[in-house]
Amino acid sequence: MKKTDARSVPRKIVAQPLAQCKPMPLETDALYTCPSCGEQNALGVDPTAGRRQTLLEDCPVCCRPLVFTVNVDRDGDPSVERVDRE
Ligand SMILES: [Zn+2]
Repeated sequence: MKKTDARSVPRKIVAQPLAQCKPMPLETDALYTCPSCGEQNALGVDPTAGRRQTLLEDCPVCCRPLVFTVNVDRDGDPSVERVDRE
């Protein structure tokens, strides 16, 4: 009798079937640290919306409204320049 070794079974993770619901997968995540709770979160930025953007979003951890100043570099990589409490 052979015992099945669970580790040897390759498990494929199906790549997010829900992602296709999004019309444009252009959002890129920019990391920031919340000034209210100090948690690190990711902010979804649309790099095509401009080289410099001001975004308003609630912190997913403490739910405070935050104002983000975001820079998008030439490669389309966003970075959070500053985060302010609203
Ligand atoms: Zn927070």
